[in-house]
Amino acid sequence: MKIHDLIIIGAGPVGLYAAYYAGMRGLSVQILENFDEVGGQPYHLYPEKKIFDIAGIPEIKGSQLRENLLAQLELVSYDLACGVQVLKVERREDLFEISTSVETYLAKSLLVTTGNGLLKPRLLQVEGEVVARESGLLSYFVKNIEDYRDKKVAIFGGGDSALDWSLMLEGVASEVHLIHRRNEFRAIENTVAQLENSKIQLHTPYVISALVENQIILKKIKADDEPFDLNVDKILVFHGFMTENNQIVESLDLSRTGKIRTGVAMRTNLTGIYAAGDACDYEGKLPLISVGFGEAAIAINDIAKNIDFGHKIRNGHSSSLFAEKQ
Ligand SMILES: Cc1cc2nc3c(=O)[nH]c(=O)nc-3n(C[C@H](O)[C@H](O)[C@H](O)COP(=O)(O)OP(=O)(O)OC[C@H]3O[C@@H](n4cnc5c(N)ncnc54)[C@H](O)[C@@H]3O)c2cc1C
Repeated sequence: MKIHDLIIIGAGPVGLYAAYYAGMRGLSVQILENFDEVGGQPYHLYPEKKIFDIAGIPEIKGSQLRENLLAQLELVSYDLACGVQVLKVERREDLFEISTSVETYLAKSLLVTTGNGLLKPRLLQVEGEVVARESGLLSYFVKNIEDYRDKKVAIFGGGDSALDWSLMLEGVASEVHLIHRRNEFRAIENTVAQLENSKIQLHTPYVISALVENQIILKKIKADDEPFDLNVDKILVFHGFMTENNQIVESLDLSRTGKIRTGVAMRTNLTGIYAAGDACDYEGKLPLISVGFGEAAIAINDIAKNIDFGHKIRNGHSSSLFAEKQ
């Protein structure tokens, strides 16, 4: 089994930047991410919202930030495993053994960048949802747009993701039905205008009352109209995400808010384990991307300086030294 210098748990903006920084210092890095896609909160919770408080970037959308971080990461070598939930971390002499939902990993040091914890999609909360999900009828993400070609698709939601995917699938699917509990959509104006000029069939204000195999039964909110049935081949649910705090390392010191307490140089109470970004807490902590980026750089530099990896680590004073070696 490959032993990495560093394993980063969580591929939100802070984990991705930390991986780049570690690669730049010459560490071998493995990133583990629970979701099938990296990007953390900006990508999953507010892809279309603009961020205005990152140094040197006047404005950037959540989804674009992820693209930029991935482009930067391509400058170094790294290993990335998505769809892998870290369950437990244990010390094995001078290594850490990381047990996940898929396999076990070994590393000499660890950086926890799990944010507010596991991001979980909000469910439709209708009987039959689990069976529909397991059979592939219902999903909370589009993994491959081709799965929707010439299919009759029902999309639930009223925000950016629901509208963006409705518009994107309009030219792919045979029919797109957009179902939302309100008459107004929460997406940006331009997208709502595109929706109004599209062939997407709108069902508002409707909610689902039953799901029987591939038949969804919709009922109008606050009206006595008869419910109506829709037979579909695919159902997509974009009702947003919840976070679930998950403690993966026993005996880590936690703050009152359940975050990992960090001290000097983002060290935790356990030697070799560091935390950065929304996952960590200390006096004066701010849960902001720019702050998390700074914490990542501090943590990686401390790891590079204090852990014996048995190979040469690049100088950390100036990134131009790294560029000359490229
Ligand atoms: C609506 C909204 C707007 C915001 N606007 C701004 C803004 O304008 N400016 C700003 O600076 N900040 C903003 N923030 C805050 C910002 O998004 C967070 O500070 C930032 O995302 C923290 O990054 P992170 O990488 O630490 O954590 P996250 O982005 O939360 O990423 C953590 C990652 O870890 C993964 N993970 C968790 N547990 C596990 C596990 N056990 N195994 C494997 N993977 C795991 C998660 O799936 C996730 O991908 C906003 C937040 C919200 C909700």
